[in-house]
Amino acid sequence: MTSRRSFIQILPVAGIAAFASRLAFAAELDPKDAQATALGYVTDASNADKAKFPKYAAGQTCANCQLYQGKPGDATGPCPLFAGKTVAAKGWCSAYAKKA
Ligand code: SF4
Repeated sequence: MTSRRSFIQILPVAGIAAFASRLAFAAELDPKDAQATALGYVTDASNADKAKFPKYAAGQTCANCQLYQGKPGDATGPCPLFAGKTVAAKGWCSAYAKKA
């Protein structure tokens, strides 16, 4: 019975941990956000405005940008340019800097 009691005691802690981890999830950056628009952010790099941002080159994506903080394989990740938001790994903006 000790194991059942400990399980019941662990439940609320597990619930709080799950809730906290949900809070840690940042919202995905809206490309229509003012700063995102100013930097030409797109969720799909192939849709980058090549006329407005001629420095864009095929193959550049957030996932291989120096500022991208997502883990390899993640669909989205944080970028310090957009605090509190996540950017798409396949996205791009004009502040792109190739990862060393
Ligand atoms: Fe993506 Fe890099 Fe622009 Fe951040 S700075 S949005 S990681 S291309």
